[in-house]
Amino acid sequence: DIDTSTDVDAEETLKPRPPVVTIMGHVDHGKTSLLDAIRGASVQSGEAGGITQHIGAYQVSLPDKSKVTFLDTPGHEAFSEMRARGANVTDIVILVVAADDGLRPQTIEAINHTKAAGVPMIVAINKVDKPEAKPQKVREELLQHEIIVEDMGGEVQDVEVSATKKTGLDKLLEAIELQAEILELKANPDRAAEGTVIEAKLDKGRGPLATVLVQRGTLRVGDVFVAGASSGKVRAMIDDKGRQVKEAGPSFPVEVLGLSAVPSAGDPFTVVENEARAREVADYRKGVLDKKRTTAAPVSIENMFSAHASTIKEVPLVIKADVQGSVEAIVQALNRLGTDEVRVRILNSGVGAITESDVTLASASGAPIIGFNVRPNAKAREVANRTKVEFRYYDVIYHLTDWVKGAMEGELGPEIIETVVGRARVQEVFPAGKRDKAAGLLVLEGIIRKGLNARLTREDVIVSKTTISSLRRFKDDVAEVTSGLECGVLLADTNDIKPGDSLEIFEVEERARTL
Ligand code: GDP
Repeated sequence: DIDTSTDVDAEETLKPRPPVVTIMGHVDHGKTSLLDAIRGASVQSGEAGGITQHIGAYQVSLPDKSKVTFLDTPGHEAFSEMRARGANVTDIVILVVAADDGLRPQTIEAINHTKAAGVPMIVAINKVDKPEAKPQKVREELLQHEIIVEDMGGEVQDVEVSATKKTGLDKLLEAIELQAEILELKANPDRAAEGTVIEAKLDKGRGPLATVLVQRGTLRVGDVFVAGASSGKVRAMIDDKGRQVKEAGPSFPVEVLGLSAVPSAGDPFTVVENEARAREVADYRKGVLDKKRTTAAPVSIENMFSAHASTIKEVPLVIKADVQGSVEAIVQALNRLGTDEVRVRILNSGVGAITESDVTLASASGAPIIGFNVRPNAKAREVANRTKVEFRYYDVIYHLTDWVKGAMEGELGPEIIETVVGRARVQEVFPAGKRDKAAGLLVLEGIIRKGLNARLTREDVIVSKTTISSLRRFKDDVAEVTSGLECGVLLADTNDIKPGDSLEIFEVEERARTL
């Protein structure tokens, strides 16, 4: 039997896994050359058995036998598109900057996308073989974007490389290894596989193919799976060296044969118990994929109870304006709106039209884009249509801040007000199904009402939170029982309960909050 539970894996089941790396940077700064050079070095070291295959990702082995996985679709567009689809596959970003060219627009975009994702970065200063290379100038330019490399007293690792002369590659791999150690990347290999589709296509001879990056568990030939809204059974797996493999563990990329249809990059890939379950999950996902962006996350019982969460809420935004003065005024005004509970998070702000990069960046973080006296270009509009990114246009700053204020208040959610309405003592306890308990109570104070929430306490320590799912007095269902009376209750999701425990019954009221 395979374990297909979706629960979080227990700490003791976790084993170290290789880091997954994406390379980003400005066009022509050497992303492809660097990917090729790293791969070439590992091919030369005799690791590859057959002919290398382009499957969208590859793995290299380091001298100490540890491994690194590279996604070989470089660029921040692919990175953020995946993230927009909920797929966070990258552990480390390598930012490539050509030493003879310095920071360029797409370098800055890559920095913004990486920051928005909260993924650690290593800077590869490339083309240092060129006579006009100025690596120190690159470090200084990075400072202006709050990237402080080690050389300048910061924590971001920077490595000088030449992709064409193949120098510095070992140092770069060491930097990746060090960063991976800091991240303590782990996954449980002993469970049904879950991963993400990195690339997919229809092959004339072999049918639909998908490259899957396994993220936890181990994928095996014969496994039944769902990939996005399509399903199938693994017929064969091929690794990046063109070899047939029987299994693939965490961080291992493999090309999978046996799909019923072509999924999309970024789709979740999940192994399930059987074909019936695969169809069920695939159907469910079809529904979810359509609804995803329109429905807000439901308030879970857990959230309702944790009356004041300590984490600060954020409203992500991308801001584009006609002149630098407006950008500064808007950013200042928005930052002033922040409180201890909610603030804006500006993923990117700048002068000029709204571009495709702004849209992919916004889409990955579910952010709207605010255009102040500017509009999106045609490409940005097209991508926004597809990714459902919202544009909002303003020409008066306080109209803009009013709208953001509303969004922040929405993010804040309603205030949860609890009013204790009664207290009772547990007299007797009876089993009632797997998750619930029945209990005989004596109401000591106030009232008990069916449907209300309750806290179970023992010697004034909260044991659990529950709901009065049914209420009875002598065999009759009743709506309410007042103090001094005995009653029987069914308590939802209750395990640990004993005679002598107390129940505090409370009403929950939601009130909209304003800044
Ligand atoms: P990408 O657009 O970022 O993928 O960049 P490419 O890898 O295609 O490289 C762009 C150009 O820069 C190519 O002509 C490469 O040969 C050249 N190039 C890449 N890396 C180096 C390097 O380390 N040194 C020199 N001199 N040229 C490089």
